[in-house]
This record gives sequence, structure tokens and C-alpha cells, in this order.
Amino acid sequence: MPDHHSNSEFENDRAHLLHPFTEFPRALTQGSRFFERGEGAYVYGADGKRYLDGMGGLWCVNIGYGRKEMADAIAEQALRLSYYNTFGDMSSGPAADLAARLADLAPGDLNHVFFSTGGSTAVDSALRLAHYFFQAEGRPEKRKIIAREMGYHGSTFLGASITGIRRNHARFHTLATGPDPLVHYVSNPGVYRRPEGLDEAAFCDALMEELEAAIATIGADNIACFFAEPVMGAGGVLVAPSGYHRRALDICRRHDILYVSDEVITAFGRLGHMFSSEDKYAIVPDIIAIAKGVTSGYVPLGATIFSDRIHHGISQAKTGPGNFSHGFTYSGHPVACAAGLKNIEIMEREDLCGHVRRVTPHFRRAVEALREFEIVGDVRGEGFMMAVEFVADRATKKSFDPALTVGRRVHQAAYERGLTVRYSADSVFISPPLVLDEGQATWLADTLRDAIAAVAAELTV
Ligand code: PLP
Repeated sequence: MPDHHSNSEFENDRAHLLHPFTEFPRALTQGSRFFERGEGAYVYGADGKRYLDGMGGLWCVNIGYGRKEMADAIAEQALRLSYYNTFGDMSSGPAADLAARLADLAPGDLNHVFFSTGGSTAVDSALRLAHYFFQAEGRPEKRKIIAREMGYHGSTFLGASITGIRRNHARFHTLATGPDPLVHYVSNPGVYRRPEGLDEAAFCDALMEELEAAIATIGADNIACFFAEPVMGAGGVLVAPSGYHRRALDICRRHDILYVSDEVITAFGRLGHMFSSEDKYAIVPDIIAIAKGVTSGYVPLGATIFSDRIHHGISQAKTGPGNFSHGFTYSGHPVACAAGLKNIEIMEREDLCGHVRRVTPHFRRAVEALREFEIVGDVRGEGFMMAVEFVADRATKKSFDPALTVGRRVHQAAYERGLTVRYSADSVFISPPLVLDEGQATWLADTLRDAIAAVAAELTV
């Protein structure tokens, strides 16, 4: 251990904290930016500066920061019963009640809930449940997965393996390689970068043909499930062509492949609905994975919500239901579940889904106006989940040289102006707390305009 005598947070971070998704030497050379408190849609940096949080923490702070009643609910539960496990026949009130609330809110016959600790573990649990189901049905060979290029599903070994963002795989092993890969990818359905010459409808047809072809090649008898985010988040806020999800679900149904909707970002109001699978895309999947907004990030929680059919199939298996040997110490953590219950109560009381639906047209118009810049190739998204993609050439959609780090520079310029946005090589992503009002939405877009103008000016010199 290096000998660090300074007890400042900055030095502790630099010396000892390995950050997610970071370059190894970065922390050592540059150190980190600290945030100290939050209120509503704002966070305050250690520099004392206020930032409008255009990334909602990390697509998760849906009800906004600094809610006393959330803190009270968490504190009350921590005092009453800080922890008990839910293994076997153990339970606690918050876990049972939140499971019931989620079953009530989730679409169709998705009436059963398995709790975990976040999005990645919710995704892992979805696959383990699918495997368990098909084993119970006497079809153990149904085990493979179809996922999508540019999908993001987390950072556990499975979550990373079904994530189709190839740069995330660099220097790691995944389950998508080798002679008998568990994971297969089909194309990302992002409309903006669809193949030349195809309109949206023809693109959707081509994607469906590709999915059918992939199933034929792998063999439906070998496939357990298809994983899809309603709108791809980390991969670039990629919006699929109209009808995509419905048609993909129909194909899955025809081949008895379970459809797993990864709503880790899109549930709990981000697209203006508690769940977007049915309310926005008219599908009732077999399994929905959630995390993030279920507690608005106040404490960690994930859940895998699944259908009566899966539950029934396992319970009524000819070989008996068996012991579902899967679970986490913190499955159904009472404090996390109490936070989830309070979060849902607040969302409903304040009609935050309705608020998102009402503010979206104004917000969208304000961000769409950024197309005034030659370097803005696309503005896209749904609800409070948007992206601005920068291009070197609008007509050909040619990307900037990644070495120019245009996304990062716009992020930095916005940050200097009091706005946080997330970035990738050539895009910035916007997913603010759902309490954002029209005035704040205008300010966000205006500030992003200033930031883009500054970077565009640098790029032309
Ligand atoms: N799935 C999706 C769609 C996500 O966006 C994320 C995280 O961003 C995850 C899964 C993984 O969630 P977590 O980081 O909580 O493990």
C-alpha cells in the first residue's frame, strides 16, 4: 500500500478508489471531481458550484435529490429492522409489500418479483430464471441468448457478455466468444445510422429478417431468451423503428423464446410511464429487469419481475419445483424495499409520469433546436432520455475522429457552465431528474447550446 499521509478525500480517492469505467492512470494523474449535496434537480460540487444534473446521477435520480421523506423512510426502516434475509421462508414487510406494488404496476401477468441489488444482478437473475424455467420444463438445451449490438445490460460477467458495446469487452473475456458462445448479437436498431437506402419501415423489416435468421441458425430449441432495452441507453440512446418491439416479441413467441425487457433505465417515469414495455411499446414481455429509478438511487435495489406462466411452469414441473438455488444476501433488503415503496408513493402523489409527459414536448423542442449546429448530426430520444450526436459531416453522417473526443469536450464545456451531461465518443446524453420543469429544461438546452458553440468554434480553428 502506498504511503499516503494526507487524509483529504481528494487524495484518498486518487490513491485508493478504483472508479468504474475509468482509465487506470487517470485517477492517479488527475484526481476526481467531487459532489457534496443535492436538491431537486441540482447537485452541488465541492467547489461550491451548483450544477443542473442533466444525467440524473446515472439515469437514476428520478424523484430528485434531497427528499426528506425518503431519508425518513430509510431511517425508520433502518431502526425498526435494518436487515433480514428473504432466503427460504424468511421475509419482511417491505419486501413483501414492494413485490406486491411492483406486480400491480407491471404489465400483464408479470406478478412475481425476485429482488437483487442493481441492474446487472436483475439481468443475471432474469437469465438464471429462464434457465431454471426451461430445465423445469424438461428442455435444458434452451439456454442461449440473443442480445443486440450496442445494448447495455451491466457489468457482471453475464451483464457484460450480453452488452453489445464491443469497446466494453476489450481485454476481458465474455460469454459471446469461443466455439459454442452462449450469447449471440443481432444488429442495433438505432434509426439514425440505419443502412443507406432503407426507410424506417424497410429497416424494421430487415431487422426482423435478421432476428429470424439468427434464430434459424442457432436453433430455437437452443435459445432461452432475447434481451432488449426499450430504448438503448448507454449504447447511445438508440431508438428503434416503430413497431420493432412488437414484432420482435411476436417472433420470440412463435419460437418460444422468452422476451426480457431491460427497463433498468426506462421504468419509473423516464419515458413518462411506470413501465414503458406496454404503455409505450405495446408489449407484455415475459420478464422485466428494473433497478435505478425504483429507488431513485437513494439506496441500491434491483428486481426481476416475471410472468405467471414462468412461475406456473416452475411450480408445476413434473419433476417438482426443486430448490431455486439463486439469491443474494441483500435480496429483498428491507431498507431498500422501504425506499422503493416511498419512491413509488412520491411518484404517484406528484404524478411524475404525467409531469414528464407534459414537459417532454417543450424539452424536446428546446433540445431539437440544437440541430442549428452543423456538427449536430442527430437529436433523438423519448421522454426524459435524449442524446445529441455530433458528426464531422452531416450529409454523410461521418463521425469525428475519436481522438478529437468531441463528446467529452462538450460534456466538459457544459460542466464549466454548470450543467452535467453524460458523454460517449461522439454524443452527449441527457436524462435529468423527472422533477425538471420547463424553465430548467430551457436552461439545460441553452447551456448545452453555449457548450456546443464553444466546442464547434474550437473545431473550426
Ligand atoms: N441494464 C441497463 C439498461 C442499464 O442501463 C444498466 C446500467 O446503466 C444496467 C442494466 C446495469 O445496472 P447496474 O449498473 O445497476 O448494475
